[in-house]
Amino acid sequence: MLAKDLRSELLRSLPAVHRVLDHPLCLELAGQYSHKWISKVAGDVIQAARERILAGEMQIDLTPDALAQAVAERVKRQFAANYRPVINATGVVLHTNLGRAPLAEAAVKAIEETARGYTNLELNLATGERGSRYAHVEELICELTGAEAALVVNNNAAAVLLILTEMAKGKKVILSRGQLVEIGGSFRVSEVMRASGATLVEVGTTNKTHDYDYERAIDDETGLVLRVHTSNFRIVGFTHQPELHELVALSHARGVPVFEDLGSGSLVDLRRHGIGDEPTVGESVRAGVDIVSFSGDKLLGGAQAGIIVGKQEYIKRLKKNQMTRALRVDKLTLAALEATLRLYLDEEKAKREVPTVWMLLRTAEELRPEAERLAAGLAGVFGERAVVEIEHGLSQVGGGSLPTEELPTWHVTVRSRHLSLTELEHQLRHVPMPVMTTFKKEALHFDVRTIFPREIDAVVKSVRDASDRLG
Ligand SMILES: *Cc1c(COP(=O)(O)O)cnc(C)c1O
Repeated sequence: MLAKDLRSELLRSLPAVHRVLDHPLCLELAGQYSHKWISKVAGDVIQAARERILAGEMQIDLTPDALAQAVAERVKRQFAANYRPVINATGVVLHTNLGRAPLAEAAVKAIEETARGYTNLELNLATGERGSRYAHVEELICELTGAEAALVVNNNAAAVLLILTEMAKGKKVILSRGQLVEIGGSFRVSEVMRASGATLVEVGTTNKTHDYDYERAIDDETGLVLRVHTSNFRIVGFTHQPELHELVALSHARGVPVFEDLGSGSLVDLRRHGIGDEPTVGESVRAGVDIVSFSGDKLLGGAQAGIIVGKQEYIKRLKKNQMTRALRVDKLTLAALEATLRLYLDEEKAKREVPTVWMLLRTAEELRPEAERLAAGLAGVFGERAVVEIEHGLSQVGGGSLPTEELPTWHVTVRSRHLSLTELEHQLRHVPMPVMTTFKKEALHFDVRTIFPREIDAVVKSVRDASDRLG
């Protein structure tokens, strides 16, 4: 038969939409999805087949079985949630691409309870009058940091923008060259400064900035002295920065307030556990810093938020700024944040119940049994097809926090001469419960630090699903 005739015959054999819709596979969908939607998808599937025929393709399965199958898959795929849970086996505790901090159970419960109905978000229950949404967490934040007043906005980037705008619009902001940072998502201090209408005055050098550099730069037009915690990189070697209390003293002597962007802002002193050199928020407040900002979902382990603490007079001004209204936090964030902060009232409780802190503090020794459980499960999946081992590894804090810190951990590794591990890694992102792994030194690595113990069986199941899809 000529190609042209074959093409006409194929086009003639395309079933009508109703034939596909009457197929049992499509009838099965009817209970769950609207008829209108299923018909639309069936029309699309048939149209796509028509286009492939017209483009010259000859090998197309046009049976109602095949087309109904395609319709069912497409309908289910379109209704499946795009945004969903994944398992983090990368060992990066605060993984920005994976949503940073997983919330404490108490925070999850608080979200659930407030989400379902009405709340006293902006109502003072004691007086029956209009209240402030910030009042719910302000006292708690002050208690935990020793600050006079506090405010919460959408995230720390917003906090920095708000503070610079209110305090230094049309004025100069003095910053050490060693702190002129860019954090993830191309948020640059210099750009934010421009957006806020403040003028950046860089002082010192990349590695060394002295008291006198700041002193010489401060003049009548100075609105703020800014200190940015270099949370995501380290300058080591021949370096100098004034101590925080020295910076505060020299700025206050000239009547200029100090703002510190702490980045992570830990409420627990991780240094006492041998982790990093991150100062706590309380230390900055005690050093006399006038305004401190930090993230709610980095080392604090709560919801995405920018927390601002400091002297009453400045926080008052920030609350009145119009931008605060645009940057305000929503009720679910407040619920999660309050519940998380409450856990910190008892530091031991926070260490057990705030997942970020708990994960960071787990020792390799504590992680070993989980590595063994996972390794046994994976060995069961692969049998002879792969070698599963437990190896020393190093986890990272992530989220632009404590960049040089490496936490000893266990990796369960999979090596194989029979399976394509890059394909397996790919399939692990396509199974119902995706698992994010790392591929290095010819092996697929599963770091147990960031896998919750409750997820171990799910990882094994996902690996089984993924390996089934390898064919
Ligand atoms: C992470 C970070 C920010 C931004 O905080 P977000 O909560 O992600 O908006 C700002 N400054 C520093 C120093 C940071 O580390």
